[in-house]
Amino acid sequence: MQQSDAPPPRQRDRRAPRLFVSQSLATGETPVETVTLEKQQSHYLSHVLRLGVGARVLLFNGMDGEWSARIVEAARGAVTLAPDDQTRPQVLGPDLHYLFAPLKHARLDYMVQKAVEMGVSRLAPVITERTEARRVNLDRMHANAVEAAEQCELLSIPDIATEERLAPALERLEPGRTLIFCDEDAPSANPLTALSGLPPGQPLAVLIGPEGGFSDAERALIGRRPHVTRISLGPRILRADTAAVAALAVIQATLGDWGARSP
Ligand code: SAH
Repeated sequence: MQQSDAPPPRQRDRRAPRLFVSQSLATGETPVETVTLEKQQSHYLSHVLRLGVGARVLLFNGMDGEWSARIVEAARGAVTLAPDDQTRPQVLGPDLHYLFAPLKHARLDYMVQKAVEMGVSRLAPVITERTEARRVNLDRMHANAVEAAEQCELLSIPDIATEERLAPALERLEPGRTLIFCDEDAPSANPLTALSGLPPGQPLAVLIGPEGGFSDAERALIGRRPHVTRISLGPRILRADTAAVAALAVIQATLGDWGARSP
């Protein structure tokens, strides 16, 4: 087999803890001198993982790729690290907005974490007629998104929108963005048929309804928007959090970044 002349992949210790930080990590190829962690992350490294000076941590911030960094100081409740090796360049994921009726507590945590793992670029909670949760804790959503990104080796955190009602949320979508409408009332069909008719690599949004599903008025409102592809997720009604994962899987497999479709 032809040996590629690409340099060997940098040594990356997958066991090293990964932390999302807000600070800059580098300017181009040049790493910043040091990054000092916030109190909570410092406590996590020092007292939970019991790491000290010399230990290595992987840092990412959604802009500069992932950097391996060495702990250079751990004192007075603050851990300071020196990034010295870019282990992965920043790459842009699919342009995939995730519009969803927020569920309550643990089910919402699950929905957010799974959507982040599946590579969405934006989390947009939508309040529909039958949505039970009226308010969304955005800090909690952000914490769930960060945890999923750290654990699943992602390089960025999706944008997190404040909750808004269905009509303004639909208006906010750019005209050219195709909306994939997961409709529990759609005639049972294989979603791959509808999705494989769309051009891959385009800006997308997916819409998942609440425990009570969509009302007919909402269905009509959604249907009036151009560039809507209504899909069924098969013959059974899925719970909203299950539907979210199922929909994102078929979307990423047909139109997203799970690999080019075989001819
Ligand atoms: N009552 C259940 C399911 C409600 S349907 C619950 O407690 O969650 C929730 C949402 O999941 C629907 O609005 C739709 O967006 C999606 N969904 C569920 N089953 C589906 C199906 N078979 N086809 C298309 N979308 C589906």
